[in-house]
Amino acid sequence: MSSPTLTIDLSAIRANYRKIRALAGSARTAAVVKADAYGLGARTIVQDLLTEDCKDFFVAHPEEAFDLPALPPGVRLFILHGPSEGSAANIANAGIIPVLNHEGQRSDYSAYARKLGRKLPVALHIDTGMTRLGFSIADMERLCDNPDAFAPFDVALVMSHLACADLPDDPMNDQQRRAFEKIRARFSNIPASLANSAGCFLGANYHCDLTRPGIALYGGNPIAPRSNPMQEVIQITGKILQTHFVDTPKTVGYGATRLMPKGARIATVAIGYADGYLRALSNTGFAVIDGIHVPVVGRVSMDLITLDISNLAEERAVPGTEVTLLGGGVPVDQLAHQAGTIDYEFLTRLGHRFKRQYIGSIA
Ligand SMILES: *Cc1c(COP(=O)(O)O)cnc(C)c1O
Repeated sequence: MSSPTLTIDLSAIRANYRKIRALAGSARTAAVVKADAYGLGARTIVQDLLTEDCKDFFVAHPEEAFDLPALPPGVRLFILHGPSEGSAANIANAGIIPVLNHEGQRSDYSAYARKLGRKLPVALHIDTGMTRLGFSIADMERLCDNPDAFAPFDVALVMSHLACADLPDDPMNDQQRRAFEKIRARFSNIPASLANSAGCFLGANYHCDLTRPGIALYGGNPIAPRSNPMQEVIQITGKILQTHFVDTPKTVGYGATRLMPKGARIATVAIGYADGYLRALSNTGFAVIDGIHVPVVGRVSMDLITLDISNLAEERAVPGTEVTLLGGGVPVDQLAHQAGTIDYEFLTRLGHRFKRQYIGSIA
């Protein structure tokens, strides 16, 4: 089998969860497991985080919620995008909590609650500056003045989302926080939530009653470009398929984008953009063999990359030699940066051809 191995360390995810929870003092700490837990496997990770007493999970789409196994009593599952057309019955029956983002969702879901004849749990998202999802503050103020607006619901949470939490000095953080504090005061005794992973690092003012970390749990760097405070979660290793000795100057790969000098050596490894090894890493990514940094030379192709192994003694890089492609000496935030993107995108693009293994489970 030549496909690389993706190892996911559940004990590191649990350690990251505990670290974020410790930051947030008395606030509860949810886990955001949308996009299949950022590509790492929501079913497995939810099961594992239950052992840390995590009681709140967030997904994006209703379908993502329906794909998870039923959760134990007292554990809540929220759908960030809210109820989609036709999903209200399944959401309500499963006891899942949709986040209502706009008037259409509010009125449809309230009609459904009235039809059922019982109050349904919901969360309310208020837009304080993302202009992406959520009720505007003006619309929410009007709704709060209308005693019928939320009568068909048990409002479990009011939330908003920060645009610049990864930029601690950006004045927008404080503006959003103040706007949120003002509107949440209209919901006395209802828990509030504002912070994503980066928001958890902005201080107690941002923690409210529930934090919503995602990337930090999975070992991404929530405070980039500062050094990553989270424990590493994933590692990708592969094996050298073939090596080449460059006996006369030669180009490598599609487009002949890289000329290697006489005497250089090249190793070919079976990972490519079909596996989420981004093509933007052409001539700029790097891997590690036996502790030595080996740059990607030439273009990343669908199934293969080529590495410059000229700095390694010949016998240390032969077909079958293990290559660290991510994790270890190849931090995910750094590789993502080299590709001109962020670790979020790197994780969620990881493909389905890896041999996947979970380690560190206690569930
Ligand atoms: C994705 C998401 C989160 C988690 O964000 P991270 O930056 O990964 O911690 C929290 N809240 C909302 C609304 C989200 O969409």
